[in-house]
Amino acid sequence: MTNTTQIFLTIDMEPDCPPYLHTFRGITEGMNSLLVLLQEEGVQATFFVTGQIAKAYPDTIRSLINSGHEIGSHGFDHSDYTRLDRQSAKQDIEKSMDLLRQFGSVYSFRAPYLKFPQSYLGLLEKAGLLIDSSQAKYKPSYLQKPRPTTLLRIPASITSSVLRLPAWIRNPWLGSLKSPVVLFVHPWEFVDLSSANIPLDCRFKTGATALACLREVIHFYKKRNFQFRKIQDVLNEHSDAEQGVATTHSGGKPPCSV
Ligand SMILES: [Zn+2]
Repeated sequence: MTNTTQIFLTIDMEPDCPPYLHTFRGITEGMNSLLVLLQEEGVQATFFVTGQIAKAYPDTIRSLINSGHEIGSHGFDHSDYTRLDRQSAKQDIEKSMDLLRQFGSVYSFRAPYLKFPQSYLGLLEKAGLLIDSSQAKYKPSYLQKPRPTTLLRIPASITSSVLRLPAWIRNPWLGSLKSPVVLFVHPWEFVDLSSANIPLDCRFKTGATALACLREVIHFYKKRNFQFRKIQDVLNEHSDAEQGVATTHSGGKPPCSV
C-alpha cells in the first residue's frame, strides 16, 4: 500500500459541452495541446471515452494509449443514464465496451453527467468492468446509501470549472480535497468557446487559459508531493484499495457549494 497522497487526473472525451453543442472541436483541436501538456509534465491520465468518439477518431485513441494513458468507458453517445430504461442502458454500455475493447483492456467507467442509477451497477459488473467513477462528492446523490457492488468506486472530487477559477479561490479549494483526489477535465475546455451560446461555467476561460490553469493545478499537487496515477493502477492493490479508495464514498463529506 502506498502511503503517499494520490491524485487521478481524468479526462472525459465527449462532444463539445454536452448537451448544448454537437461538435467535436475538443477532439480535433483541444486534444493535441492537452496531450503535449501531459507529456511535458510527465503525467499519465485516465481518458473516459464515448464509443461514438472511439469510432470516429480511432487514431486519437491509439495515440493517447501509445503515450501511456489509459482508456475507460464514458458510455456510447453521452446519454443521460437516468433517462434510459434498463435495457437501453445495458445496450449503451455494451455498445461502448465493444468499441473500446478494440483498443485494449477497459476496466473503468464514468457515466455522462456523473449521473448513474445505483440500480444499474450490476450492468457494469456484467460488462466486465471493475471500477466506477460515476459518483461526484459535490452532488447530493453522493450521500445516498451505497449499494453493495463488486466495483471499486472512485468518486470525482470537484467539478471541472473549478480548475479555471482564479488561483486565490481555486488553490485553497484544491488544498482542502482529501486524497485520493479525482479531477476531471474535457478536451473541449482547451478550445476557446468563450463566445459560444453555452452556460457560463462551460465557456469562461476556455482555450489557452484553461490549459495554463491545468498546468498550474498539476504544479500545485506536485509541490505537495501528490502521486499522479491512472485509475487502473488501483487494481494492483485491490486489497489496499478496499481499505482506502473504495471506502471513500462512505465518508459523507458535505458537497462543495458549486
Ligand atoms: Zn461527459
